[in-house]
Amino acid sequence: MTLPIYLYGHPILRKKATEIDKDYPELDKLIKDMFETMQKADGIGLAAPQVGKSIRLIVIDASSLKDEGSELQDFKRVYINPKLTNNTDETITAEEGCLSVPGVRENVQRYTDIKLDYFDQNFEEKTENLKGFKAIIVQHEIDHLNGKLFVDRISGLKKHLANKKLNSIKKGKVNPFYKVKL
Ligand code: ZN
Repeated sequence: MTLPIYLYGHPILRKKATEIDKDYPELDKLIKDMFETMQKADGIGLAAPQVGKSIRLIVIDASSLKDEGSELQDFKRVYINPKLTNNTDETITAEEGCLSVPGVRENVQRYTDIKLDYFDQNFEEKTENLKGFKAIIVQHEIDHLNGKLFVDRISGLKKHLANKKLNSIKKGKVNPFYKVKL
């Protein structure tokens, strides 16, 4: 089932999401729906707050971006209660967009190399080291769990220019091809 994606301006995107345990009701169904919603919207990552659930759950499927590097081919993940540590202070700046902020793409600075402790869909505890594009995607999604959006990380003049677009999203003057909720 495709779920509506909550747009910039909705308060749920600003809440710190809560951890869940394996008794969370209908978790498998939610994960399946999130993958479907993300894929239909041509997204590569989706955090639960973006579909109106303030819980620490992320789905990622970057396999459609395999042109950018074959290591993305099998980058399909479910991250539950992820904890992020940066392995280095080194950063990279790359352009990002977000299904909750349609029509806005801006450069954002992220760590190049991160460690992630998390639970997978079967609530098995895992650790993963991620670099480059994978690390960027995961940092963007974890921001969502902390009530933060990529547009909060752009600075000065760029932010000023983006504000116009952000205000029109807030006013509902936006019409992406996927189902949304204001
Ligand atoms: Zn996003």
